[in-house]
Amino acid sequence: MIAEYTAPVTAVDRRTFVSAAVAALAASGRAGRPAAAAVPEATGRTWRVDGARLARRLKDLSRFGANAQGGVSRVAFSPADVEGRAFVMEMMRGAGLEVRVDPVGNIFGRRTGLLPAAAPILFGSHIDSVPEGGNYDGDVGSMSAIEVAQVLGEKGYRNRNPLEVAIWCDEESGLTGSRGFVGDLTTEDLARPSRNGAPLAENIRRLGGDPERLAEARHAKGAVAAYLELHIEQGGTLDAAGIPIGVVEGIVGIHHYEVTVRGFANHAGTTPMDKRRNALLAASEIVLAVDRIVRSVPGRQVGTVGRLVVRPGAPNVIPGEASFTIELRDLKAETIESLWSRIEPEARAIVERQGCTMEYVLSPPDRPALTDARMRDLIAGVADDLGLRHLSLPSGAGHDAQELARIAPMGMIFIPSVGGISHSPKEYSRPEDIANGANVLLQAVLRLDQKALEAGS
Ligand SMILES: [Zn+2]
Repeated sequence: MIAEYTAPVTAVDRRTFVSAAVAALAASGRAGRPAAAAVPEATGRTWRVDGARLARRLKDLSRFGANAQGGVSRVAFSPADVEGRAFVMEMMRGAGLEVRVDPVGNIFGRRTGLLPAAAPILFGSHIDSVPEGGNYDGDVGSMSAIEVAQVLGEKGYRNRNPLEVAIWCDEESGLTGSRGFVGDLTTEDLARPSRNGAPLAENIRRLGGDPERLAEARHAKGAVAAYLELHIEQGGTLDAAGIPIGVVEGIVGIHHYEVTVRGFANHAGTTPMDKRRNALLAASEIVLAVDRIVRSVPGRQVGTVGRLVVRPGAPNVIPGEASFTIELRDLKAETIESLWSRIEPEARAIVERQGCTMEYVLSPPDRPALTDARMRDLIAGVADDLGLRHLSLPSGAGHDAQELARIAPMGMIFIPSVGGISHSPKEYSRPEDIANGANVLLQAVLRLDQKALEAGS
């Protein structure tokens, strides 16, 4: 659905016009010679963001939902979120962008291009936070995207493709806005209550969205030329290595299992040791097995038992039931499946030996989302040209970019999180690292606009 990207011509039907425009873009890119309408290819190579102004944007935004610990609680749909969004929309207008809110509550700021019917290049992030979160998760990418738009405006840049800053709605509790944008949000989802108890549809209305028009928020493959997101790493790899830029390989897939082991709850004083069916004992062995199996193969896969509930949970009763979670993450779904194919039979053997039974449920898995190889090359090339060292790494956390990857070539730029701390008021990224990331974003956007991805759009 690309209803809002209206072609300026009525003589040809829009689809014909769009495909012609896209073909022209691709052709000019291949020939290495700009089309008549385009700016010269190397325009803006020396342009840089204003680091001090970017730091000020972040500081100004941090007022909305500021908490005593020095962080922010700007949970989606809260008054702080509503006020923060209004502030950000003003900031976007100040950067020369045409601002609109889509039916699922995403904010877009558009710079119409010389080819207004061409698929837009999107870049941005989110400004909602977890409860008692920090001032960098989402905010760095959002404020940098606006700063990039401001620089393009000040330099009088004549973009070819439409450029759009995207501020996705409700990233933290389920990627609501980006899922709506790619068509992965259903009317049933809209009826379900959000964390604040109100149905999602009502919450979206509070942000100026129009959930009745859900279908109009959806975008098919090809409707977006490319998506770029700058984000803090949220882990400690870049900080520990002293490397300023991360080129994200992809966002890991997640398999989440709810496991229940049943034994027999009996008197802890009168039941001899050889007559017990202790569910916790079996669960404990499984916890150790998960850790051992996940470590046993090379790679960056992770496996965690993060919750364990024992019933009846009394000091003088042998645990009759233990329910726990097993979470496996990796960039490759096959790795996750192969780990589970070893964990599952071993868990069964443990349970049997302990005289217990086991059942488990796998929640709908989050599939891994790989970044586009051309986008990775673009980001690495830009970092090289800026003299910034870079490292390829996976994202262990989820991002809106994983949804965008379903419909467009997607790339992500990471900057260091000091100490690898995130989702905490202690989350911190250095101003120089933020400015470096924003400069990579600026240059990557310019190059995308001047040279369409081979076989892209
Ligand atoms: Zn985030």
